[in-house]
Amino acid sequence: MNLQNARFAARSELGALARRIIPDLCRWCLRAGNMRLHGYLRGYVLGGDSSKLEIRGRRVFCSDRRGAEGCGRTISILRSDLIARRFVTAGVLWLLLAICATSQAFAPAWAEVSGGLSRSTGYRLRCEIRRAQTHIRAALLSSALPPECDAPEPLAQLVAHLAAAAPPKECPVAAFQLRFQRSIFS
Ligand SMILES: [Zn+2]
Repeated sequence: MNLQNARFAARSELGALARRIIPDLCRWCLRAGNMRLHGYLRGYVLGGDSSKLEIRGRRVFCSDRRGAEGCGRTISILRSDLIARRFVTAGVLWLLLAICATSQAFAPAWAEVSGGLSRSTGYRLRCEIRRAQTHIRAALLSSALPPECDAPEPLAQLVAHLAAAAPPKECPVAAFQLRFQRSIFS
């Protein structure tokens, strides 16, 4: 999966977005008229039914079959409430970020919200967010200045900025992926 060419959609909008981009130019070969719906991306979801694969996204295929002149590559449309290539959900990642914005001890706070993910996974996700914050901040700054924040924790301002940019009652991580059409980690 190439995330540079992925799109993000709310879970309920996956099919509608897939159908909507069918008339578009292929992002790979820039030709039109060859795009076809092409099945689902499935996988396990944290907090979901562990006995079955859930829909994580849809794919649109630039067809090179039956005389079509596409390039044969696919475009992924990913659920904005999930994190590409990771088991953690946007909601649990947001809870992790909220912990990082406070001075509370990380490990016990993470254990309460992690949904069963290990402590080492929590530490790894925290490292990845720290590495990704430059691109997250750059995207957020393109739409609004960060709110006032004098908390001493390095991630506190990022968390405040993400929260301020999200619509009320929506998960700020999912809202970021939907609004900026990019993974929180890339
Ligand atoms: Zn193509």
